[in-house]
Amino acid sequence: VDELTPSIVRDTSKCILCGRCIARCSSAHGLGVLGYENRGFKAIVAPAENRSFANSPCIMCGQCVSVCPTGALMEKSEIEKIDEAKKSGKFIVVQTAPAVRAALGEEFGMKIGTPVTGKMVAALKRLGFNKVYDTNFGADLTIMEEGTELLNRMNNNGVLPMITSCSPGWVKYCEEFFPEFLPNLSTCKSPHEMLGAIVKSYYAEKMGINPAKIYMVSVMPCTAKKFEAAREELSNNGLQDVDAVLTVRELARMIKVAGIDFARLPDEDFDSLLGESTGAGVIFGVTGGVMEAALRTVYEVVTKKELKGVDFTAVRGIEGVKEAEIDLDGKIVRVAVAHGTANAKKLLNSIKSGEKTYDFIEVMCCPGGCVTGGGQPIVNAKDLSYVDPKVVRAKAIYGEDASKAKRKSHENEELKKLYADYLGEPNSHKAHELLHTHYIPRPKYK
Ligand code: SF4
Repeated sequence: VDELTPSIVRDTSKCILCGRCIARCSSAHGLGVLGYENRGFKAIVAPAENRSFANSPCIMCGQCVSVCPTGALMEKSEIEKIDEAKKSGKFIVVQTAPAVRAALGEEFGMKIGTPVTGKMVAALKRLGFNKVYDTNFGADLTIMEEGTELLNRMNNNGVLPMITSCSPGWVKYCEEFFPEFLPNLSTCKSPHEMLGAIVKSYYAEKMGINPAKIYMVSVMPCTAKKFEAAREELSNNGLQDVDAVLTVRELARMIKVAGIDFARLPDEDFDSLLGESTGAGVIFGVTGGVMEAALRTVYEVVTKKELKGVDFTAVRGIEGVKEAEIDLDGKIVRVAVAHGTANAKKLLNSIKSGEKTYDFIEVMCCPGGCVTGGGQPIVNAKDLSYVDPKVVRAKAIYGEDASKAKRKSHENEELKKLYADYLGEPNSHKAHELLHTHYIPRPKYK
């Protein structure tokens, strides 16, 4: 059993050598980390030279997990860590990523892409979490920081194109295979890390809670988030921003074990102080969403005019690489969006060769973005013959965006209060201390 990474466990005794994981790793990423090793009865599936995942260029995305029919590949569960934290009397705060609400219902027999935001919150409250917050708040916060960073770079001859850094699989891919682009990565922490940092500083101070007593749990559609949460640099005053990450599958297991009848739960709301979010926050869950959310805010900041139509349809859809030129009142911003690292590789190579020039790029590691992340419910092959989870889950996300009264991050009232009371302004010294990070070149497998 290979369980050396924080993200994925590989148990060769359960493997039937079907090769689906190998195909997925190649098709989603062009990576080919997994392959057959040894021969005959001794054949196993493993990274090249029989390495562990931890000693390979694996980016921990979990796409292999989502196609494995036997459980030979699984996320590394952190449910026990959370039970221990509860027993030790920690104040446990949970947050849920945008894409979780578009898929959790599938674990309880609902149709693929059924939005279950209210029931998800109700279930988390019944599981005994002290506070239930929305990573969408962190996404709105990311837009404030990242949008300001983009404008600073554009106005002060900074490194361009700036590339988003919300997707931990993408960040690790960049560190492994394109370290020359690390200065292009936004220094912003990802939304759940930002929210974790704020919970253990601003929220702790407001509520008079010792930050060391707070245990921050993130429910994510992603296995790479487990690796990300363990990064030393994503901490403050010796405390990790996030203490444990659950995939959607793990959360579903907890709900089932607790005997909660999910389908019959009432809809409940996120807790206040850090629970408000805009439509811009929720679209982070789908390819093109971070770009669109950023453009909604950047447009108004640059032009000082109200943006009437907030839907930037040019960056929507599941085409591998999307490009657009956005006119900000005479100032043209050249943008591109890629999902799946095979597409990101094409895009980066086109920049390196001088064929393409952009100002701002969004990359999400998983094909389709977080809605089809490696931590989402596994879809049966028979269902895949008539429905594309990328498309229907994205529909649930855009539906929630459209239903919101506020659809631009800078309109979030709780966020305005956070800046007024605590952070000052976006990219302030305090914001940098808590909400920004750096990256590590790891090009040994190139
Ligand atoms: Fe083995 Fe699972 Fe990969 Fe199939 S998908 S080869 S069962 S690890």
